[in-house]
Amino acid sequence: MSEDCLFCKIIKGEITAQKIYEDDQLLAFWDISPQAPKHFLVIPKKHVNGPGDLSAADDGIIGALVRRGAELGAEQGITDCRLVMNNGAAAGQTVFHLHMHVLGGRTLTWPPG
Ligand code: 5GP
Ligand code: ZN
Repeated sequence: MSEDCLFCKIIKGEITAQKIYEDDQLLAFWDISPQAPKHFLVIPKKHVNGPGDLSAADDGIIGALVRRGAELGAEQGITDCRLVMNNGAAAGQTVFHLHMHVLGGRTLTWPPG
């Protein structure tokens, strides 16, 4: 846990979020500023700043995060979905607790711009 981290505060219940899924390792909740008709985030409960700060010991949890993200997308009606992790400020990362965006519900163009 990181004291000043927004997503750690959501994990601890200090800030509310519309949760979709929770287990001992992961939490999924709807994004507060959706960029598609369906847009949620999947995060590890362990604080990691971002993809660039992962260690080999985290491989299992990230595998579970991706697998659960796609499964939850299908459960939410977006079997076709985009799974995104922004790594660093210049890549669009604004919250420095690793998270995967799951987006869908409209046709998503590529490249994203
Ligand atoms: P990033 O830009 O770091 O990849 O994504 C951070 C995401 O977190 C953004 O899509 C933003 O809308 C979302 N977000 C920021 N603050 C909150 C919050 O307090 N609650 C929820 N549910 N989402 C948030
Ligand atoms: Zn955190």
